[in-house]
Amino acid sequence: MQQQEQQAIGALQSLDASHHLHPFTDTLQLAGRGTRIISHADGVYVWDIHGNKLLDAMAGLWCVNVGYGRDSIADAVAAQLKTLPFYNNFFQCTHEPAIRLAAKIASLAPVHMNRVFFTGSGSEANDTNLRMVRRYWDLKGKPGKKTIISRKNAYHGSTVAGASLGGMGFMHQQGDLPIPGIVHIDQPYWFAEGRELSAQDFGIKAARALEAKILELGEDKVAAFIAEPFQGAGGVIIPPDSYWDEIKRILSKYDILFILDEVISGFGRTGNWFAATTYNLTPDLITIAKGMTSGYIPMGGVIVSDRVADVLVNEGGEFAHGFTYSGHPAAAAAALENIRILEEERLVDKVREDTGPYLQARLRELCEHPLVGEVRGLGMVGAIELVADKDSGARLPADMGAGMLCREACIEVGLVMRAVGDTMIISPPLCISRAEIDELILKASQALSLTFAKIA
Ligand code: PLP
Repeated sequence: MQQQEQQAIGALQSLDASHHLHPFTDTLQLAGRGTRIISHADGVYVWDIHGNKLLDAMAGLWCVNVGYGRDSIADAVAAQLKTLPFYNNFFQCTHEPAIRLAAKIASLAPVHMNRVFFTGSGSEANDTNLRMVRRYWDLKGKPGKKTIISRKNAYHGSTVAGASLGGMGFMHQQGDLPIPGIVHIDQPYWFAEGRELSAQDFGIKAARALEAKILELGEDKVAAFIAEPFQGAGGVIIPPDSYWDEIKRILSKYDILFILDEVISGFGRTGNWFAATTYNLTPDLITIAKGMTSGYIPMGGVIVSDRVADVLVNEGGEFAHGFTYSGHPAAAAAALENIRILEEERLVDKVREDTGPYLQARLRELCEHPLVGEVRGLGMVGAIELVADKDSGARLPADMGAGMLCREACIEVGLVMRAVGDTMIISPPLCISRAEIDELILKASQALSLTFAKIA
């Protein structure tokens, strides 16, 4: 690279460090090392501004389900911007892309869910959920049912309600969260917190924490339980098989609404359009975002069950809630084209029948590595636990920062993986081929060995 180009990149990094406050970033560190500037992308690959090609095993931020470089989405958005760049969906108005998208999503969702409320993001969608469940119980004549039960180490967004619904302690510490009316139970993280029991027994125990919390609060105080089908940002934590059936039993016994946050799992990641199908769940509300547009344009929403919609619509009158960009026409056009691609290329079926099982089988080969204590996953997500001792699963010293070292090692070999503590996580685009999965596994194994060499 020419000296002039290097200088131009340095100048850009310095502008960034001076003016751009990044999400979830220690800004002070940027001045020292500079941000990684990504310049372009195609398929499952991204290139940084230095020309390094990286296999993006995180699909951006769990979102680029159809992969990068889809001209037809760009064209659909451009066409929509030229026809109608904006109109709102408030006050008995709408436009064709929002209508068609709501109907399309209803056709893909579980049969008992037929309406969609649009938002600009997953966080806004979870704020919407909070307001919707409280409104529902008010209308049902049970205004005492206000509390929402969530789980520790869950991620439900970064707005005040989103971060409160989430169970990330380090987020709660900043700004006195959670807000009142949101409580958290233990997570079903067998590898880290439950191995003195069998996975199945631990699954039941973790689920019964919900029952204990409902009994402690009183069922007449509890509005809803919110959960991700698997905890994504928490470290791809997949509950033991026994967990969901027990949760379902408890929710139905105490008449508690169920919000399933499918911001990551929605639109095919587990091999079905929604993980509700994968896990045989019947949520009252489903949170969506990310894969809805494959991240090409921001958009989120809530898929609403007939149970909730019937009360809101028939008894509620106006729901005093909405965002300027709810159902934005360009975002809706992107989502419709994104879904068309997913259908035309049978990407969801492929994840279920072909590439998902292939990724999972190949990923498990990494269990052989001396640094790896567990590999888990389903469909197009996975986690690799880095440990000090394979047999006991004992963790490495936290100050060693093995996860971050491994993340850096991934970049060295041309791979993007994310580290949550010492858990490496992946969530590649759904269009990834078998050959690209082979490349991902090879690079992951090289990165593990580089990390092992560094900490040995
Ligand atoms: N819910 C889950 C499960 C998520 O993973 C995320 C984001 O990662 C959100 C909600 C928040 O979505 P957004 O970042 O679009 O606000």
